[in-house]
Amino acid sequence: MTQSKNKIKTQSQQTSCTQCGICCTKGGAAFHGADLPLLLEQQVPWRNLITLRAGEFAWDPVTEGVQAIQKEIIKLRGSGSEWTCCYFNSSNNSCGIYHKRPIACKTLQCWNPEESLALAGKDLLSREMVLQNETVLQGLVKQYETEFPLPDFNTLETELESRCETYITELEEQVNNDLIFREREIAKSKLVSDIELFLFGRPLFQLLQPFAVQAFQSGNRLRLQYIKQG
Ligand code: SF4
Ligand code: SF4
Repeated sequence: MTQSKNKIKTQSQQTSCTQCGICCTKGGAAFHGADLPLLLEQQVPWRNLITLRAGEFAWDPVTEGVQAIQKEIIKLRGSGSEWTCCYFNSSNNSCGIYHKRPIACKTLQCWNPEESLALAGKDLLSREMVLQNETVLQGLVKQYETEFPLPDFNTLETELESRCETYITELEEQVNNDLIFREREIAKSKLVSDIELFLFGRPLFQLLQPFAVQAFQSGNRLRLQYIKQG
């Protein structure tokens, strides 16, 4: 897994992994080119993957900031609602797929992060690569990307400040259409249900929460509310 030089405090004398497990609690690892066989053969099941779509805001270990990602990232899912990798066993700090763990985990040396920082953001796997033998699923992903492009998160706050009411209405439409699409495809296929987060990433309403846009149920739709900060 990748991480910043500063986020995980290293012991000045540290020269090897102490198996503290802290890196595994910072979010599941991203997959790179060297991991493709693992995913093509589902040695790591697709139900344990999540896609961060291009344009989503995510932590960048190189710049040590949160910003819109340029390319999509396929990662290991967290555990429940936590960031901790779904394969991390906190009772003994062990990895459930140690011999099949992604290259980002194999590379990581928190006391010497240069190698993992060099890997960060490069040679990333995409859904198209992983689904190269699954034309139906690949077509579904393409359809989703075409019908539900992400809003520009870089300008979201400005839009909310300048034309809140109309923008919230537009976002509400996108949020609900996104959910309708997912529910329809999930109802048709147990496989799609199992791997929804890999195929489509997180629903739009969840991506809006960090921007102070909260969703609440109203009848059979979600309504959105912008809670202005400060
Ligand atoms: S790489 Fe570092 S943070 Fe991760 S388990 Fe080893 S010592 Fe802990
Ligand atoms: S795959 Fe294993 S080593 Fe990598 S983050 Fe998950 S638990 Fe940690």
